[in-house]
This record gives sequence, structure tokens and C-alpha cells, in this order.
Amino acid sequence: MKKFGRVINNASLKNYNTYKIDARCKYLIFINDQNKLRDLLDYLNKISVKYFILGNGSNIILPDYYDGVVIKLELNPFFIESNTITVGASYMLNKLANITVKESLKGLEWAAGIPGTVGGSVIGNASCYEESLMPLIIKLEVLDNGVLKTITTNDFNYSYRHTTLKDDKIIILKATFKLDSGNKEELLEIIKDRTKKRVGSQPLEYPSAGSVFKNPEGYFAGKLIEDSGLKGYRLGGAEISEKHANFIINKEDATSQDIKALIKYIRNKVFEKYGINLILEQEIIN
Ligand SMILES: Cc1cc2nc3c(=O)[nH]c(=O)nc-3n(C[C@H](O)[C@H](O)[C@H](O)COP(=O)(O)OP(=O)(O)OC[C@H]3O[C@@H](n4cnc5c(N)ncnc54)[C@H](O)[C@@H]3O)c2cc1C
Repeated sequence: MKKFGRVINNASLKNYNTYKIDARCKYLIFINDQNKLRDLLDYLNKISVKYFILGNGSNIILPDYYDGVVIKLELNPFFIESNTITVGASYMLNKLANITVKESLKGLEWAAGIPGTVGGSVIGNASCYEESLMPLIIKLEVLDNGVLKTITTNDFNYSYRHTTLKDDKIIILKATFKLDSGNKEELLEIIKDRTKKRVGSQPLEYPSAGSVFKNPEGYFAGKLIEDSGLKGYRLGGAEISEKHANFIINKEDATSQDIKALIKYIRNKVFEKYGINLILEQEIIN
């Protein structure tokens, strides 16, 4: 595999997931070239070895051991021309939001607190304050079953925290956004205000992967969990945050099992009380 990129055998993934689960994988490979990525996937498919693409690991629950290849993309190009910006899939969304605001470009300021990559955020349709990346995307360069393609948002469907790109196992390589011109000071103020709200309402002092469950239509998952009396409930090293009940935090060396058991516990309790089936927003990797 070395011909495709830097490989680490039996690698620790603790620093590659925001829950800081002390997970390991058989191989971790860093890929900085889209053709090498295509060749690697072709090779892994031929030898029937499982893999997954890792962004910033901020929306996933890793297993304690992944018996396959974890592919960490290092695709970071950045081009800006007037109001149009093209970035690689590994570019951090919060960095992009801050840079565009400094360029007096409006449209991405809501994304300043999201600790994911552009690729992970496009594939999962990251959103906040009812804003998402989708209306801003002009085109995406993707790898679709071994074929390099350029697509637009007309080529797939998306809904709240979901895209069919994900179902179709499409890999994002680059994204091009078109933003509006804006007032830098006003946009910086929006970021400041939203950061203050996040710091005040989210347990950012602990490792987590953001909201655990999607908000059911007409409800807030956090409120349902809080009203079920679950704030502060702990299983192993994983705890339901006292600050925001839709966050599970890694309080002390939480394992993947601790987090998954706590998720099951929450779902059962909320279902018992409200008859509502909470749907996971985070993705369990097996
Ligand atoms: C404190 C905190 C706050 C958060 N706030 C928000 C918020 O306000 N709104 C929100 O939507 N989310 C939020 N999140 C969740 C998370 O940051 C986002 O969902 C983010 O978009 C995930 O990106 P990632 O790069 O970390 O993806 P990962 O977690 O690494 O991966 C998620 C999925 O995307 C796939 N993937 C990653 N890169 C690619 C690629 N290039 N091509 C194809 N598939 C890929 C992975 O295989 C996996 O299936 C928050 C998380 C934290 C920890």
C-alpha cells in the first residue's frame, strides 16, 4: 500500500476523532492525490479489504478496533477568485468560514463553529441556524465508483443532515462555492455572537462529536433527553452533558462501547416516555 501514500500499521486514531476514543485500526493511510486515491480504492476493492474515508472525525463513533484501512485525505488546495472559492475536501470548514469573512464574503459565517472538513460537511449536509452549504455550491469534484466526475447539487438529493451522495458512496474531492459580497465587520460580529452562543450552550471543554441525535420534527432532541431526566447520566467514561443533553461527552477515557451503550439507553428512555424514536445524527463506524 505504500505506493499510494504514507501508511501506519496498527495506528492509533485517538487524535483523529473528536470524541478522542482510543481506537486503533489495522492500517491508517494518508492520501494527498486524487489519482492515488482512485488507485487505492480500486486495489482495496479487488482484494476485498474494507475501508472508510475519515474527515476530521467530528461526526463519527469509531469502533475500538477497525479491522481495515482508514483513509485520511490530505486534499487541501485553496483557490479564490472574486466571489468564487474552490477548496479541497480536507480543508476545514471553520477555517474556510473565517477566511471568507475576512475577504468580506458572505454566506459561510454560520459555519464558523463546525469542526469538520469540507468533504465530511458536504456529504452529511452540515447545517446550522437553518443554513447549509448546499445553496452555495456551484460544483463538486467527486470520485464516483472509481470515476472522476464534476457534479452539481442537481445531481443528488439532500435533506436535514443527509445526502444521497453518502448512500451512493461518492467521495468528495473538491468543492466550489459562490458567495455574496458582504460587510466584514457585520460578518465578524455574527461569528462572534454565534461563538458566544456555542460556548454558552455546548460542552466544548470536553471531547464530543456534536449533537448525538437529529431533532425529530417539531421537537428538540436535547429537550426530550433533558425532560427524561437524563442530564449527567453516565455509563463508563461517557456522560450525557449537564450543559446540553444532546451531547455525549467523553468524561474519562470513554470507549466506543460506553458511548454506544449510552446512546441505546437514551433512545429507550425517550421512547418509553414520549414514544419517539430518536434517530442518530452521528455515524457508527463498524
Ligand atoms: C463541538 C461540535 C459542534 C458541531 N456542530 C455542528 C453543527 O452546528 N452543525 C453540523 O451539521 N454539524 C456539527 N457538528 C458535527 C460535525 O462537525 C459535522 O457533521 C462535520 O460536517 C463532520 O465533518 P468531518 O470531516 O468531521 O466528518 P467525519 O466525522 O470524519 O466523517 C463523517 C462522514 O463523512 C464521510 N466523509 C468524510 N470526508 C469525506 C469525503 N471527502 N468524501 C466522502 N465522504 C466523506 C466519512 O466517511 C463519514 O461517513 C459538530 C461537531 C462538534 C464536535
